[in-house]
This record gives sequence, C-alpha cells and structure tokens, in this order.
Amino acid sequence: MHTQQLEAFGYDAYGNAPDLLAPKDAEAIENGSWQRADQHATCEHCGLFYRQHPEVQGARWLRRTCRAGLVKL
Ligand SMILES: [Zn+2]
Repeated sequence: MHTQQLEAFGYDAYGNAPDLLAPKDAEAIENGSWQRADQHATCEHCGLFYRQHPEVQGARWLRRTCRAGLVKL
C-alpha cells in the first residue's frame, strides 16, 4: 500500500497505528513478546515463509505466525 493511504489509516512511518491494535497485540508489544526471524524462515506449522503470514493490524512490522506468535522479519 502507498504511504499516503497508510497514513490515512493512522499509521506512522514505522508502521505503527496504536489505535488499530487489538488489546492482546498491544500487550504483546508492550511486553516485548515477539521474536526476530530471518526473511527466509519458514513456519513449522504450515510450511510457508513467515513473510507470507499476515501483518499485524496496527503494527505492520510484525507478522502473525500460525504457532510461533508474533515475529519481526
Ligand atoms: Zn504458518
């Protein structure tokens, strides 16, 4: 998506939009409950790359994996 569109949704330049975060995701970020993962790391559950998993609404720098929780690529 274009930066202008993302800004219209409330995202800043770092991909954060606190108002859009689900409470559980906000809590996970607050607690640092996410991991770093390699761009080429694959999900043990579904076999897809982590980068093929959905972005977290309100925190586009995180992906939601099947079982490993939230990861930053
Ligand atoms: Zn998966």
